[in-house]
Amino acid sequence: MIAEVIVDIPSINTDKVFDYVARPDSKVGQRVVVPFGGRILDGYILRLKDSSDIPTEKLKSLGQAREEFSVLLPEFLVLNEKMKSYFHLRNIDCIRLFVPAQLRNGSVHSLTIKLLSVNDKFDKQGLIASSRKNAIKFCALVDYLEKDKQYDVAMLNKQFGSSCVKKLVDMGVVDVVEQEKLRSPSVSARQDNLVELTADQQKVVADILSSKEGMHLLFGVTGSGKTEVYMHIIAEVVSKGKSAILLVPEISLTPQVLSIFRARFGDTVAILHSGLSNGERFDEWKRIRFGQAKIVIGARSAIFAPVSDVGVIILDEEHDPSYQADSNPRFITHIVAKFRGEYNHCPVIFGSATPALSTFNLAENGDITEHRLPNRVNNKPMPHIEIVNMCDEMLMGNTGLFSERLKEELKRVVDEKNQAMLFLNRRGFSSYLICRECGYVPKCEDCDVSLVYHKEDNLLKCHYCSNRYKAFKECPKCGSSYIRLGASGTQKVVEELHSFLPEVTILRMDFDTTKNRGDLVNLLDKFANTKPCILVGTQMIAKGHDFPAVTLVGIVDADVSLHVSDYKATERTFQLITQVAGRAGRSSLEGKVILQTYTPNHYVYRYVSNYDYLGFFDREKNLREVAQFPPFSKLVRILITSVDEEKAVQITRQFYESIAEFKTEHEDEFLYCKAMSAPVKRIERKFRYQIICRYKLKEEKLITDYLFSLVDKSGDTDVKVFIEVNPSNLS
Ligand code: ADP
Ligand code: ZN
Ligand code: ZN
Repeated sequence: MIAEVIVDIPSINTDKVFDYVARPDSKVGQRVVVPFGGRILDGYILRLKDSSDIPTEKLKSLGQAREEFSVLLPEFLVLNEKMKSYFHLRNIDCIRLFVPAQLRNGSVHSLTIKLLSVNDKFDKQGLIASSRKNAIKFCALVDYLEKDKQYDVAMLNKQFGSSCVKKLVDMGVVDVVEQEKLRSPSVSARQDNLVELTADQQKVVADILSSKEGMHLLFGVTGSGKTEVYMHIIAEVVSKGKSAILLVPEISLTPQVLSIFRARFGDTVAILHSGLSNGERFDEWKRIRFGQAKIVIGARSAIFAPVSDVGVIILDEEHDPSYQADSNPRFITHIVAKFRGEYNHCPVIFGSATPALSTFNLAENGDITEHRLPNRVNNKPMPHIEIVNMCDEMLMGNTGLFSERLKEELKRVVDEKNQAMLFLNRRGFSSYLICRECGYVPKCEDCDVSLVYHKEDNLLKCHYCSNRYKAFKECPKCGSSYIRLGASGTQKVVEELHSFLPEVTILRMDFDTTKNRGDLVNLLDKFANTKPCILVGTQMIAKGHDFPAVTLVGIVDADVSLHVSDYKATERTFQLITQVAGRAGRSSLEGKVILQTYTPNHYVYRYVSNYDYLGFFDREKNLREVAQFPPFSKLVRILITSVDEEKAVQITRQFYESIAEFKTEHEDEFLYCKAMSAPVKRIERKFRYQIICRYKLKEEKLITDYLFSLVDKSGDTDVKVFIEVNPSNLS
């Protein structure tokens, strides 16, 4: 038998199947050791066949299988083909997504424990006679073991002394068996409160379950009980013996959320998130692979969980940018979910209070079935959003971060011993420093960006690489001590808050305060248990959190995400603000939102403050349609990077000329095509150039395929070429 194998080398030159002589027990999907070009590498068997075009005597033979079982389920071999052609990935890029890193790099080993049990042939009288002075101790241990058969040796050592345990093992009185112990992340259980679904919820559950397959949009306002809908659908699916995948943005994988699922579904839930140790992650994967866990909850990469017979796939907060992988291998989770849904003939659900424009557009066109939950479960109105014009504050002489209104409301919250959240989507203290006398702005040595000032550790940090520099009081260029700060970040918000509310507990949640495992959990715990309290944070605080005592949300600078050169900027702003606003007034307490902006007349704020998603959608869709931006066209970026700027420019030029030539034959289809340096011209010493093409949908497959084939020609050099379709990040 011949095996078709993909070898684990990430290179375009080796991205094809190689034939090997299989072993008699070789299985499709197995990870195997293969000799390759004088080296010994890992490979994956994609297919077994009877013969090869190459004479058998010229073929090498497969080495040992790494595991007895197939690492890749049959479904993943199909998924590999689909993903490869849709996202233009190499085989090995896909396979690496399917196989946990812990397995691939052998960094984690299975944990085994020793279990003791009393031997069948054990004779108590004989033991007493032969052991005299130790008899009582021995008998106690034997009695203990006989009661419940098997015990972990470590526990017995503690209780009876290791020498006693060892002697009995040596005497053959007790048997030792080794058993694998799966490390499962601990999740505090909580009381499950089974609720009765509202009529709206019931209808959604019934409609989706009866549809069997296809894609669905669950468009439900924040607090409309989408999670409860998911849980009912999952329960139904699992009761039929099938499995389920629920994806949520990483930051929403809070202990709160996980414990709700554990309480309802018990051990059949596997959890995959970045807070797990390597061992836990590996063992959760195994529990899924071998069917012990039927429900998988995790962030983006959990879409590749090796569950078989999938009955439903859910993407909660489907508009979240994290569903789009923007480093290699680049893929869009929605599309992968669609592929898996098709393979398993099961429904795929996208849920959100603010669906991505592209998703909602598909629903309008009837490509996705839409379901709505227009009201909050407890019929609480959405919190009132009050817009404050910061230009007016400036005219009145208030140059601080907080308007008078926001200060007033913050004081009220504190007096009432409730909680507030303050949102500013910029971390650090100030986005840059500038010398007032000579205009010097400190920049990263390796990246073409200015450094962010972090006052808490007195450092200037690059937010694109890990470089750090000492902050300064005097300009290193001219010695002046007049240093002006750039735009304020979360650290500055905390400092200003402290100065006018010195007694109140203030917590900060951003990338810098949640770097270590457990930080996030501790922060959320502390916030849940402190009143009054103010939580300051970046977009991290916008996601899914449910704190009943939050009666005020302050949006310190709503414009942060608005004035960036990205066609999705307005959409993103609408989504972020709606999500943050939804954190207020979730319980019986009334909520309020203060939104501070320098551009109060921007249309996005009108729609946002009326919670008018549909109105916003229509307007935004119209703009995109007229200007022919996605989803009404395709936007592709070819990114070319190299430490050698000349080479990067040369390749960029070469590609551009080819595209220009191709374009002459398809002039009507192209809307835009330009080559330029990327907005961030250098990251980690690599120069970055880009070609951006926008073209009509009519011939999009033809053009996209052409661009794919073009970048393939670049081969493997020190110039890296990436191609991105409708990228979410154009920096
Ligand atoms: P969403 O995900 O749509 O923002 P959640 O699923 O978090 O909303 O629900 C908001 C709150 O309402 C939660 O505390 C949830 O337990 C509760 N809830 C959901 N459905 C019901 C129901 N049918 N009856 C009572 N409470 C419910
Ligand atoms: Zn200076
Ligand atoms: Zn840098």
